[in-house]
Amino acid sequence: MEEMLILLKPDGIVRRYSGARALKSILDLGVKVNFFGIIKPEKEFLSDRHYAEHKGKFFYENLVNFMSSTELAVLIAGGENITQKVRDLLGKTMCEKADPASIRGRYGTTKGINLVHASDSPETAEREVRLWKEIINIEDGRDYENEMLAYIKKYENFPMIDSVRYREISRDLSDKKMERTEAEGLIKELLLKESDFKEEKIKSLPGLITENILLG
Ligand code: GDP
Repeated sequence: MEEMLILLKPDGIVRRYSGARALKSILDLGVKVNFFGIIKPEKEFLSDRHYAEHKGKFFYENLVNFMSSTELAVLIAGGENITQKVRDLLGKTMCEKADPASIRGRYGTTKGINLVHASDSPETAEREVRLWKEIINIEDGRDYENEMLAYIKKYENFPMIDSVRYREISRDLSDKKMERTEAEGLIKELLLKESDFKEEKIKSLPGLITENILLG
């Protein structure tokens, strides 16, 4: 059976409702949950292994810093033609360009802060699943689907700030109608409203988000 890697990125972890909603819509595709867990990989694992192909690109450093800023939800999903189905549901890379009905279009925060990572082809999926199986421990007989459902249930009634609000700030920042420090302050305020994370634990996130916005 085809397997793929799906990750809730830090914005999908911190923005509890949006992350839960994204996982729920992936489950609704009828995927088989072969693994689900909350994991904080070593930064080097993300920079040198998972994102090795992006080394040297203009967004690489920001991406690695962002992805290692909080724990991630890791899902190994199985099913026929699963990679294509999940990628279609996810939408384009940049939130503002993604179909408004897709996960990234509807719930993604702004620009490349797009809530979810998913393998982009069956070949990438095979490589990513093999790689992540080096750092996770899949236990026989464990009901990972039930654990994912419990995660969704825990967070699906959290308050949600519409992504539209983040995108307004993003646009004002890009258009130089807002200073970077003001944007960071507002983004921090909004993230905390959507989350049970303490301010200290997400202190690097607003800066990393504004940096991603300014990358274009
Ligand atoms: P994906 O497969 O759709 O996630 O896209 P890629 O593999 O090309 O890029 C990996 C991640 O880097 C994306 O999900 C974004 O978080 C970030 N990224 C890629 N391209 C850009 C860009 O042009 N601008 C910004 N701000 N971020 C980007």
